[in-house]
Amino acid sequence: MQVAIIGAGIAGLTLAKRLSEYGIKTVLIERENAVGGLARSFKYDNGATFDIGPHRFHTDDPEVNQFIMETLDEDHIIIDRNSQLFLFDKYLPWPLTPKGLLSLPLHLFIRSGIDLFMRRKARTESFEDYIIEKYGGTLYQVFFKPYTEKFMDYECSNLHKDWATTGINRATIDKKVDTGSLTSLIKSVLFAGEAGTKFIYPRSGGIGTFSEILASKIENCNGRILLSTQIAKFVSNDHKISTIVTDVGEEIPVEHVFWSGSLMSLRSLGNAPELVPRLHYMSSIFFNYLTTAQIEQGFQWCYFGGKGAEIDRVSVPRNFNPQLVPQGKEGLCVEVSCNEDSITWKDPARLDCMLETFLLRTNLLNSLDQVEDYHVEHVHETYPLYVLNYPRKLKAIFNWVNTTWSNITLIGRTGRFWYNNMDNSIAASLRTAGRFINDYKEGALRHGDTYSAEDRYLTGKD
Ligand SMILES: Cc1cc2nc3c(=O)[nH]c(=O)nc-3n(C[C@H](O)[C@H](O)[C@H](O)COP(=O)(O)OP(=O)(O)OC[C@H]3O[C@@H](n4cnc5c(N)ncnc54)[C@H](O)[C@@H]3O)c2cc1C
Repeated sequence: MQVAIIGAGIAGLTLAKRLSEYGIKTVLIERENAVGGLARSFKYDNGATFDIGPHRFHTDDPEVNQFIMETLDEDHIIIDRNSQLFLFDKYLPWPLTPKGLLSLPLHLFIRSGIDLFMRRKARTESFEDYIIEKYGGTLYQVFFKPYTEKFMDYECSNLHKDWATTGINRATIDKKVDTGSLTSLIKSVLFAGEAGTKFIYPRSGGIGTFSEILASKIENCNGRILLSTQIAKFVSNDHKISTIVTDVGEEIPVEHVFWSGSLMSLRSLGNAPELVPRLHYMSSIFFNYLTTAQIEQGFQWCYFGGKGAEIDRVSVPRNFNPQLVPQGKEGLCVEVSCNEDSITWKDPARLDCMLETFLLRTNLLNSLDQVEDYHVEHVHETYPLYVLNYPRKLKAIFNWVNTTWSNITLIGRTGRFWYNNMDNSIAASLRTAGRFINDYKEGALRHGDTYSAEDRYLTGKD
């Protein structure tokens, strides 16, 4: 028996490792030329390594922690979190600290306080209504709305609240900071003390090191990994995929398929009828600068709140691991999200002047001569676009997949349309592997949907 796993990101690799070490013949098919998916790293001739924005491990799940530690083994460091927010031309600690809160303009402070007593009850499931109910209209207008509309290129009144419930908690990732509402946020930043989250990061390279180690373990268990490979077609009989034909014409017989790739490419492969809805993902461009600048702020990553530039976030690789940039140099990873029809995606070079001016204005560069080199990376499907009616569309796509093929299981962030973290993809794939191996032992595989992990990162799943 052979299983195919489409996508060699964290979810696909975790699953492939578990299945291949159990002795199940596994082939991983990845369209990019490297493993790691959204958690891969780019290594350049200039000696620098850049991740896709800020990437680090954080988990409270003992099983996931054990999986990360047994994969990295000695090859890890523990780092303190240092993230910031640039708002009103100031660098503020993020999550907010009492000092940070007090440095906000007084009128904003007072208006946000008044908001506590004048809550507007949410009338719809929208991001806008959710945020105004939880945090008040002032913070919504000043921060959440401009940042989110810049980031998603979509109106907050038409975005689903899942973008907030999954996103805000992930952005803060600090147990001491309760982000559930403005009141709890203020209470916890005032009384919890400094945020003290610790992260796990590879010692010998970028975050992609984790996936490279997993890939070599899979190959040691006779798993195959096909890079730069697309699927040309599924051959199926009686709703069961029997053979995968790759773009170079290889025919791979399969008993079961796990799909962690884009749902839209699956939709095209299956020639879905028009009435099967389309979902949308945002994609991102990363401008990876190698500079001679000295960055004083010390952050690992910083969110840029205002409308001023198209930059969403800047991260500094050296503050994750000093090994990532040559001595005396500084890396700056500038992140811009967009959709793939946009001019930004098609011609990012037209933005670079604006971005460099922005880096000057925000004191991340002192002069344009400090830029020594830069690379532009296009990364597909970085974020699911949770429009207001996405739960209905997602349900329809899942139904279509499950009725078209009986032996396919959707997994991972992209395959299940999750806005999740690496640890969530690992946890879900460990659960999927456990269920599948149990049935394999019994010699009776069930419908592919049986092996899916719960969509617990989505509140609007129904
Ligand atoms: C900018 C950014 C910062 C992040 N920071 C963090 C962080 O600090 N900590 C954290 O834990 N998580 C972070 N995440 C989230 C983390 O990257 C993801 O949760 C995790 O990598 C998802 O892994 P996955 O395997 O589920 O999905 P993916 O990484 O999306 O893997 C899917 C794979 O399928 C491949 N694929 C897609 N379509 C096809 C196809 N048709 N054929 C073949 N292959 C295909 C893709 O190339 C990809 O390799 C961040 C994400 C982003 C975008």
